[in-house]
Amino acid sequence: MPSDLLKIDVDQDIPASTEVVVVGGGVIGVATAYELARKGVQVVLLEKGRIADEQSSRNWGWCRKQNRDEREIPLIKYSLQRWVEISEEIGRDISFRASGITYVSDKQADVDQWEAWNQMAKAYDMDCRMLSAREAQSMAKGTTKQWLGGANSPTDGRAEPGCAVPFLAQAARRAGVIIVQHCAVRGVELSAGRVSGVYTEKGHITCQTVVCAGGAWSSLFLRRLGISLPQASVYSTALRTGPAPEIFTGGLSVPGVAMRRRIDGGYTLGLGGRGRLDITPQGMRYAPKFIPMMKERHGGLKIRIGKSFFEGPEAWYRKWSYDEASPFERFRILPLRAEDSLVAEAEKVMVSTFPELKGVKIEEAWSGLIDSTPDGVPVISAVDDIPGLIISSGYSGHGFGIGLGAGRLTADLVCNDTTVVDATPFRHARLVDGSAIQRPGMM
Ligand SMILES: Cc1cc2nc3c(=O)[nH]c(=O)nc-3n(C[C@H](O)[C@H](O)[C@H](O)COP(=O)(O)OP(=O)(O)OC[C@H]3O[C@@H](n4cnc5c(N)ncnc54)[C@H](O)[C@@H]3O)c2cc1C
Repeated sequence: MPSDLLKIDVDQDIPASTEVVVVGGGVIGVATAYELARKGVQVVLLEKGRIADEQSSRNWGWCRKQNRDEREIPLIKYSLQRWVEISEEIGRDISFRASGITYVSDKQADVDQWEAWNQMAKAYDMDCRMLSAREAQSMAKGTTKQWLGGANSPTDGRAEPGCAVPFLAQAARRAGVIIVQHCAVRGVELSAGRVSGVYTEKGHITCQTVVCAGGAWSSLFLRRLGISLPQASVYSTALRTGPAPEIFTGGLSVPGVAMRRRIDGGYTLGLGGRGRLDITPQGMRYAPKFIPMMKERHGGLKIRIGKSFFEGPEAWYRKWSYDEASPFERFRILPLRAEDSLVAEAEKVMVSTFPELKGVKIEEAWSGLIDSTPDGVPVISAVDDIPGLIISSGYSGHGFGIGLGAGRLTADLVCNDTTVVDATPFRHARLVDGSAIQRPGMM
């Protein structure tokens, strides 16, 4: 994990039984557990590594409704509302700041794309808007570049991945959730076709419901049960600087780099759409479903065969026994290594765009494995064939901002309550029932 990930105290032992087991302690698992506890449900959350050790501590920290897939808009609006109110609710500053997110560009194609999105978004009563060239210029102070225009949402925001999910996990524990780290769930026990428990590396837990919130590992986890979750993953690189002059307060995307002001006075930098796609057995299995996405988005990806063919979430595994170490514990935490060439590129673009930042130190760089569905929208859904099994996964590179809302929606599905927003766009069946895969709408 990046070095700023907060370590928290957790429980050491698993109970013999509970109502719900949540698999995975990223933002989705933790937010789900927290919301279930608020509903008075008994929950055990099991994490094979540490809380937020994978994507949920390695992301850029952008929480945005802007330029989002239309199917996600009601949920992200609700999620942003939760980010605003959660600090007071848990009695701790979770680090969310509604400091705005801005996109600027010198390319007409970018401006046209944002314009089309803003036209669509008018129906959703939001504060997103287009920026003239002059406004775009004033949003990115001190740049030597000339922008054609931009787009802005003043109430989009940012939060610190290093502490946000750990703070929420602490609140979940106070609300009664049992959280155990270094405890991989090896599989789900079924009795008469429905969920009756889980097998973990620390023993068996009886339960009525299992929530699979395993991020990049979810597809592998579900396959052991005969459930298909088409997922493909991309290693994405990010980095952070040391303290630097404040040229904007929120998030700013310029061609070639996305930057976010950090609470510690530095910036987190990322390269949208750039990364490494490893050819893996899982990737080959689901490749046909990803063809439409790849046709549009392969440009920024390096494709290679490497170690992930043989180890990690997408490797080829025989059916493992629940009595022996599973792939989740044999390969406990995804590697952190950043792509050096992308780190150098991000720094170069930052300095050429903002000469004032020349000499600012790059303190740390890392990578994270982004799990994507073929249509770029998560699965938040019961599984038709297995009563008691809920999937909340496949957040496709934008699950941090939507995470608090997604946790609530997942908890609603577990309890069979009226859902906070319509869950239909997120149903599992859309990816496996043979219907045409919709084009991803997230930018
Ligand atoms: C570089 C990068 C930048 C990003 N930037 C943004 C951004 O700016 N804004 C945004 O909204 N999103 C962003 N994202 C995406 C966002 O981080 C993810 O969508 C989100 O964190 C997913 O949360 P999750 O809980 O589903 O998965 P994860 O955070 O990956 O958590 C899943 C957890 O499940 C555990 N697990 C898996 N299998 C098991 C098992 N069998 N037993 C026990 N535990 C298990 C794993 O160890 C892991 O900790 C970014 C991602 C990356 C990598």
